[in-house]
Amino acid sequence: MALLVQKFGGTSVRDIGRINAVADRVAASVADGNRVVVVVSAMAGETDRLEGLGFEVAPRPPSREMDVLLSSGEQVSVALVAMALMERGCTARSGLGFQARIRTDGNHMRARIEEIDAERLHADLDSGMTPVIAGFQGINSRGDITTFGRGGSDTTAVAIAAAINADECQIYTDVDGVFTADPRIVEDARRLDVLTFEEMLELASLGAKVLHSRSVEFVGKYGVPLRVLSSFNDGPGTLITTEERSMEQLIVSGLTYQRDEAKLTVLGVPDVPGVASKILGPIGEADIEVDMIVQNTGADGSTDLTFTVRRADYERALEILDGVRGSLGARGVEGDDHIAKVSAVGVGMKSHAGVAKRMFDALARENINIQMISTSEIKISVVVAERYLELAVRAMHDAFELGTDASTEETW
Ligand code: ADP
Ligand code: ASP
Ligand code: MG
Repeated sequence: MALLVQKFGGTSVRDIGRINAVADRVAASVADGNRVVVVVSAMAGETDRLEGLGFEVAPRPPSREMDVLLSSGEQVSVALVAMALMERGCTARSGLGFQARIRTDGNHMRARIEEIDAERLHADLDSGMTPVIAGFQGINSRGDITTFGRGGSDTTAVAIAAAINADECQIYTDVDGVFTADPRIVEDARRLDVLTFEEMLELASLGAKVLHSRSVEFVGKYGVPLRVLSSFNDGPGTLITTEERSMEQLIVSGLTYQRDEAKLTVLGVPDVPGVASKILGPIGEADIEVDMIVQNTGADGSTDLTFTVRRADYERALEILDGVRGSLGARGVEGDDHIAKVSAVGVGMKSHAGVAKRMFDALARENINIQMISTSEIKISVVVAERYLELAVRAMHDAFELGTDASTEETW
């Protein structure tokens, strides 16, 4: 008998057949004596559709209204899942973010959860009820609906699990767990039995959309045991743990990529203190997030500064740089919005030199030019032309022998 949170993503509730399958799974869990809080996403494609409608009406839609619009997808799926559970004899009730009292900050479309009313959930569970809670949405102090950013239902699930002190948070999705790389790109990607939360956090923040990165932050903060599994097949899935892994772990655990990136370069600025802040200050003020930054000083003493932003922010960033270029005395501004970032992640990297070399050799063998590099203790990221993205991921996957066919023994 356990206290569980079970979250079902868009493909897992994409039609009535799948909703019935979800209800069968939850009802079986309850029949086994478990107490379950269910969290669901909108039906597959629905949030994209709603987002498209918003952009059709307004090129820069107001984020408060977008939250009202986007959160409606989950309202449909919670009601359907609750009804399907009732058909199976379960006492179930749907709840939207405000009803579950999921309080957030005021940042529309990327709100952070501040508090969840655990008492109410406990009271419902104690009365034999199975709450079915809408993912991805909460309520701010003004009483307005907020959402957590795309993929945010995972965060609802883990935050609820932390609030009610659940034994496990189970994220049911359309793959069998977390793989060594996106199985849709790398055919022989292998499911991982276990990953540390640090590795999962890096993978998620560097683009692996199998988990929303904020959900993984909760694992680190509150120690919630988190498991990613398939709603289509039975299997153990992948456990995300805060425990240290044993020494036989792989040096690189997984690869990931981010496609929607762009880079900008300010060319030939005088190499004097304060230049970087003059360039990046106005970018930050425009609420544009900067990721990698590289600065090179040439023989003539002038500097080129290159940085990356999300592709959606590219045009705006370019306009800003064109505006400040004159006052900086820069020679020019260049940009490229067809780049992608590929990253290798693994706690084993900490103690192994040579990981970068192996990665760069693999890319060189495929004639893929590395445009930018950034590293941390447990990850290496490179920027490459977007058209080489898939090739780069596959080449690195082979080079690190991550596949099902490759030997997983350490050979170096
Ligand atoms: P859901 O709708 O259930 O939330 P998502 O589409 O958000 O599902 O996430 C699951 C998808 O994540 C998979 O279909 C897969 O293509 C993608 N993915 C990317 N990287 C990985 C990885 N390393 N392991 C597993 N899946 C991954
Ligand atoms: N429905 C939302 C989205 O598509 C949230 C989620 O699925 O996690 O982004
Ligand atoms: Mg998701």
